[in-house]
Amino acid sequence: MAQLRFRVVEKAFQTKPKEVEVPSERPSEYFAKYVFNREKMFKYLPTSVYNKLVDAMDNGAALDREVADKVAEGMKRWAMELGATHYTHWFQPLTEGTAEKHDAFVEHDGKGGMMEEFSGKLLVQQEPDASSFPNGGIRNTFEARGYSAWDPSSPVFVVDDTLCIPTVFIAYTGESLDYKAPLLKALRAVNKAAVDVCHYFDPDVKKVMAYLGWEQEYFLVDEGLYAARPDLLLTGRTLMGHEASKNQQLEDHYFGAIPTRVAAFMKDLEIQALELGIPVKTRHNEVAPNQFELAPIFEECNLAVDHNMLIMSLMRKVARTHGFRVLLHEKPFKGVNGSGKHNNWSLGTDTGVLLMAPGKTAEENLRFITFVVNTLMAVYRHNGLLKASIMSATNAHRLGANEAPPAIISSFLGTQLSRVLDHMEDSSIDELVALGGKHGMKLDIPQIPELLIDNTDRNRTSPFAFTGNRFELRAVGSEANCASAMIALNTAVAEQLTEFKQEVDKLMEGGEPKISAIVHVIRQYIKKCKPIRFDGNGYSEEWKEEAARRGLDCETSCPVIFDQYLSADSVRMFESTGVMTRKELEARNEVKWETYTKKIQIEARVLGDLVMNHIVPVAIEYQSKLIDNVYKMKNIFPEEKAVRLSAQNLAIIDEIADRTAYIKEHVDAMVEARKVANKIENEREKAVAYHDTIAPMLEQIRYHIDKLELIVDDRMWTLPKYRELLFIR
Ligand code: ADP
Ligand code: MG
Repeated sequence: MAQLRFRVVEKAFQTKPKEVEVPSERPSEYFAKYVFNREKMFKYLPTSVYNKLVDAMDNGAALDREVADKVAEGMKRWAMELGATHYTHWFQPLTEGTAEKHDAFVEHDGKGGMMEEFSGKLLVQQEPDASSFPNGGIRNTFEARGYSAWDPSSPVFVVDDTLCIPTVFIAYTGESLDYKAPLLKALRAVNKAAVDVCHYFDPDVKKVMAYLGWEQEYFLVDEGLYAARPDLLLTGRTLMGHEASKNQQLEDHYFGAIPTRVAAFMKDLEIQALELGIPVKTRHNEVAPNQFELAPIFEECNLAVDHNMLIMSLMRKVARTHGFRVLLHEKPFKGVNGSGKHNNWSLGTDTGVLLMAPGKTAEENLRFITFVVNTLMAVYRHNGLLKASIMSATNAHRLGANEAPPAIISSFLGTQLSRVLDHMEDSSIDELVALGGKHGMKLDIPQIPELLIDNTDRNRTSPFAFTGNRFELRAVGSEANCASAMIALNTAVAEQLTEFKQEVDKLMEGGEPKISAIVHVIRQYIKKCKPIRFDGNGYSEEWKEEAARRGLDCETSCPVIFDQYLSADSVRMFESTGVMTRKELEARNEVKWETYTKKIQIEARVLGDLVMNHIVPVAIEYQSKLIDNVYKMKNIFPEEKAVRLSAQNLAIIDEIADRTAYIKEHVDAMVEARKVANKIENEREKAVAYHDTIAPMLEQIRYHIDKLELIVDDRMWTLPKYRELLFIR
């Protein structure tokens, strides 16, 4: 087996970069080649059908069957010209990935032959036999049927020979069983609430979009080395492995030159992403060795989420053609940085205004401050929920470690914006809003320097940082579906904006002029949401204490954090905005707890296997060699000299005995602890048991394995080491 380790290491060193075929020097020539975008809709659909479809996409207008049939016909023609033979409803169940079931475009023609067919009925709705998707009990108590329904707001695309149709996935009884359905509802809610608030400033606004620009971090590992690590293969992370002597301490990887084999992978990935209409723009090395980042230009939130799901599967596929495996796990390697997925979020109007960007006039700045402060209020009120929305068994390794935001949500605004808010808080309403001449009202909202847009001061430790024209939610995990965080954030902002409008309207009904009513409520909010603002070091111990004093959610146990979804405040928020019902929230939490338990359970099993099959036998074999040597020393040297010369070996023999004994005992104890936990019926309690008793054992056992790695003969060690996994390109 050790032979295998050396063979794969050697092969990894010898692997050459793959030649990448570039379709054209100009990305604009192949961008969205495989997407049925407006240009293709116009070409393949009758004009009246095109107009109705665009209305459905932009304004959510309903499509009748006849139109759907025509759309399906055009789509099929376009897809078949690209070589598609199948179609699939592409959806996002409550797992980490996407789901698809392919059907061919064939039907009996009634004359004993076949014809290519794809109708509006097949486009609009399907009934996948999806009883084995996570559903938290919803599908067991009612009919076991689920529906997938077309989401016209995200364009269909072709991957290989299949036409992929983005869909929502819901139960027979209407509950959502996926990420997309509640996301669309959250986006609808924030649109409505934000449009209403925009009308204070501009009556022409008809629509407000939420934007998302994600930054995807990932690791690459040589495929051969990956295959020789059962823990990577089965759990996505290394459950053992001593730190390499060199890792990221020289800070020589971040923004460094991209290794050629990796560069070829990136180029290939980017071409294929662009062909799928994903506007990828930025790539660079990340902090840890073999860690990289990819970011597109931001897009409308629902589309951006779909594109992120699509790129994660594309990355997996393309990596393999370059002899790599991509690791999307939040913490594949201990001791070096983990991977996140910053979610850059903002709101913008159909009139072209970015609502999180400062303007030039006092009134534009009041609008800007209105949206910023309401966002802060939303994040303050629901900071625990926002944390729950990004929490998972895998992201738990990253949060709170000294590299990613702590398990406390706070917001960094930077000095300039903080000063503006402080000024508003400290001045009286009369000072801020003076009666002027013709225009009735003068505003003393400090002019915010344009420099702010450049966003010079940054705070990498903040989980929710203002960055010039957007907020950056930095706590999202690399493997996560962004929808989870985007559902929580957009719904919280929708609820908050709705309440803001009610308060302002009430003051106006009492006779207060509009601007002073807005300023009045904003000033109260600035005071109220102060605890969420934190510009200091989010990694420090003092912050944890300070945050607790401020009443922010400081819970660190992943399964307990999920309780936030069922708090009275959260349920009220989701129900009042029409995003999710209590029943849906309960069902989704069951899924979260169950998933948490299963992940830890799998890790515990894999570690147990590795210990018994790889670690302990090798350590004992080496120990026997040393024992043999000690005996032989006694045969050739006088007693006293033999003992002296064998002292070192005896110490190692002793250490191996101690550590293997500890490891074996704890693996047994872990099995027992699992038996106890598995008997617990309640999913939450079971997850808590896994978190409290089993997860810590994984770390305790690992500690001794990593120590053994340091003393056992390298030639005998079967598993590729960190220095091999992380430094071979
Ligand atoms: P950084 O590493 O400095 O955070 P990147 O360029 O890597 O910046 O990523 C920034 C992301 O934020 C990109 O996806 C970009 O398109 C996106 N972005 C920029 N402006 C906005 C905005 N107003 N709303 C949402 N996303 C935005
Ligand atoms: Mg960023």
